[in-house]
Formats: sequence, C-alpha cells, structure tokens
Amino acid sequence: MSGLTYQSRWMSDDLRIFRKTIRQFIQENFIPEQALWRQQHHPNVEAWTRAGGVGMLLPDVPEEFGGGGGTFAHESVVLEELAQGGIQFGAGVHSIVGHYILSYGSEEQKRCWLPRMARGELVGAISMTEPAAGSDLQGIKTTARREGNDYVINGSKAFVTNGLHANIICVAVKTDTRVAGFKGISLLIVEGKNLPGYRIGRSLEKVGMHGQDTCELFFDNVRVPASNLLGPSEGKGFSQMMEQLPYERLTVGVSAVATAEQAVTITTKYAKERTAFGKPLIDFQNTRFKLAECKTEAHIGRVFLDNCIERFISGQLDAVTAAMAKYWLTDCQCRIVDECVQLHGGYGYMMEYPIARMWVDSRVQRIYAGTNEIMKELIGWSL
Ligand SMILES: Cc1cc2nc3c(=O)[nH]c(=O)nc-3n(C[C@H](O)[C@H](O)[C@H](O)COP(=O)(O)OP(=O)(O)OC[C@H]3O[C@@H](n4cnc5c(N)ncnc54)[C@H](O)[C@@H]3O)c2cc1C
Repeated sequence: MSGLTYQSRWMSDDLRIFRKTIRQFIQENFIPEQALWRQQHHPNVEAWTRAGGVGMLLPDVPEEFGGGGGTFAHESVVLEELAQGGIQFGAGVHSIVGHYILSYGSEEQKRCWLPRMARGELVGAISMTEPAAGSDLQGIKTTARREGNDYVINGSKAFVTNGLHANIICVAVKTDTRVAGFKGISLLIVEGKNLPGYRIGRSLEKVGMHGQDTCELFFDNVRVPASNLLGPSEGKGFSQMMEQLPYERLTVGVSAVATAEQAVTITTKYAKERTAFGKPLIDFQNTRFKLAECKTEAHIGRVFLDNCIERFISGQLDAVTAAMAKYWLTDCQCRIVDECVQLHGGYGYMMEYPIARMWVDSRVQRIYAGTNEIMKELIGWSL
C-alpha cells in the first residue's frame, strides 16, 4: 500500500532481496497450507525446518551463532511478509526466545541452542503468563527448586504461543520463594518435550489466530540441568524480562502496521470492484473518506514505526517509546481493520475473505505482550 513516494529509511537493496526470498517462500510453502493450519489450530511441524532452511528464523542473530547476521530490519521484513500474507506463524516469538539466549546466555548456551533454533530444529516459546498472573508478572507461582545439579520445576503456565511444537522454552520461575515480588524470579530454559513430569495441554480454542497454537503447560517435578539458568545468577528474571519486552513490543508493532496497510490495500481493491446502486463502492464519498482516513492513519503508524525501528537498530529505543508503539499501533490496526470490514459489507464477515480473518486475528494484539492498559501505565510513569 502506498500511492505515496515514502520509503522506509531502513530499507536497503540487501533487504529488498531478502524480502523477495521470504515472500516467495511464504507464497509457495505457507499460503497453500493456511487453511489446514487454521483447521488443526497449529502449523505443521515441518514448517519450522523449512522456515529455517530459507533463513526466516533468527535473521537478526549473529552468523557466528547460526543466525542470519542481520539487524532488526531483517526481523521486520519477516514479520511484515507474514502479516501481509495473513499467516499465523510464531517466528516472532521464536526470535524473542533467541534474543533472551543471545542477551543473557553463556557462550556455551548460545552455541548449544541458537544454531539449532536458526535451523528450526528447536522451536522456541516464551512462558511467563500463569492462570492467575498475566499483567502482574510478579505474582507467578511456578517454582524451580535447586537440587544438586538440577532445578526441579513445579507449576503451570497459561497461553503459551508455539507450545505444541516448542522444545526450547524460556520459562519464568520463582527460584526464591522467600522473597516477595520480582526479586526471586529467574528465567530457565526447558529443552525437550519428553521430560518426565512435563505435559502440554490442549491447543486452546481462540477467537482468532487459529493458524498458530496457544497452549497450557504443566510442570510436575520436571528436572532441568542447573546450567539451563539464563544469566550468571538467580533472581535476575524480572529485570531480564523488562529489558527484552521492548523487542517483543516492537515486533507486535511491526505486524500491526503491516496488517493495517494490507487491510487498506485489499479494501481499496474491493471497493473498486464491488458495485451498489449502479456504481463502484469507491464512488461513494463515504467509502473514499473512510479509506482516506484509514490510509492516513496507517501512514502515520508507518512513520512512527520506522522511527522506532531505526532507534532500536541504533540501540536508542527506550521502554516508554516501545510501549507507545505497542499500544498506539495495535489500537490503530484494530480501528482500521474494523472500518475495512464495514466497507466490505456482509462479505467482510465471511471467513473466506481475508479481511474477516484479519479482523479476528487482530484483536489479541491489544492484549498480549502486555495489555494496552499496562502500556499506558508505563507511559504514565514517565510523565
Ligand atoms: C493468543 C494469546 C497468546 C499469548 N501468548 C503468550 C506467550 O507466548 N507467552 C506468555 O507468557 N503469555 C502469552 N499470552 C498472555 C498475555 O500476555 C496475557 O494474556 C496478558 O499479559 C494479559 O494478562 P491476563 O490475561 O492475565 O489479563 P489480566 O492481567 O487479568 O488483565 C485483565 C484486564 O485488567 C487490566 N489490568 C490489569 N492490570 C491493570 C493495571 N495495573 N492497570 C489498568 N488495567 C489493568 C488489563 O489491561 C486487562 O484489560 C498470550 C495471550 C493470548 C490471548
């Protein structure tokens, strides 16, 4: 969608070639399987190794650890192409796990896990939320008790994206139950799916995003090596999460803008093709005005997002601006997609139309990665 001469300043020839490769891969491999993924509520497991083969996974992790050696611009290209294709595939969550390992892992941990994640042999999930602790992460109850060279994990986790296929899970646990709040929280890597006491619950029946799974996870005396702790010592988990959440929030913002742009593109096309009262919908002033508003808002979102991406790449994106991006861009996405459904009339409510799928898939963007209310709290604290 453009009609404007605007070009993201972070775009380059190298990234254009990368985009072409990813787009072609998605069209040939993921789009034909979308209906099946949506029906079974998860992607096929081979999708991960295929994605790894084309360089879609961990594109912004250094080559020495098996990644693509790019920047957040490469990650953005992947997320944009997935969003524009209407594909639900947890590559963003996978990258988030990769970045926890990259930022806090030892040399040995990075060499052990990152190359296999980049190849898609290991599928990443991040497991913070619990049935009784979502926004208030300090309230998590899952524990990891040190016993010799192991940690023994007990508890349950809710809403884990990629949970079904995940075999490298970054789990937020309480390693010290004597201290209240954030102090006793650590991040532990759980590797493998067949550990005694580890159980994956069902793939939850969601309102949208049917092509990717969201599961519950249960830990009943699950043993993991003590060397799977992320960071040099226990108790650093909460600050590690706070440091990494801007990355996660920016990935959500990238998908939000790409989806909003795509909604305007497909709705403009529809409004030119569909007729009512003997003329195309686009000839009604209301249709043009609504699309003009949507296009303007999507463009404002794009410019703000591009600024955030540039600042992130140069190491200057602060947590407050990342919160602004997450909240404003996802609200904007939902406003635009909802308006575009309206402009489609009854067909906008039919799941065979991409705009209907976008509508159900968009809603959760305002909820996960920290709700938009929590984003406003974070921004509010900076006032
Ligand atoms: C599809 C999906 C995928 C997800 N994937 C993952 C994942 O991979 N890993 C993971 O760990 N989690 C995941 N989540 C969980 C998600 O991050 C949480 O649902 C979210 O953080 C909100 O927590 P909650 O559901 O417990 O809501 P609650 O925290 O109970 O919030 C309920 C309402 O109260 C509001 N509220 C709470 N506190 C405040 C406050 N201080 N001020 C103002 N309002 C407040 C919230 O904004 C919300 O409107 C996923 C969720 C969904 C739906």
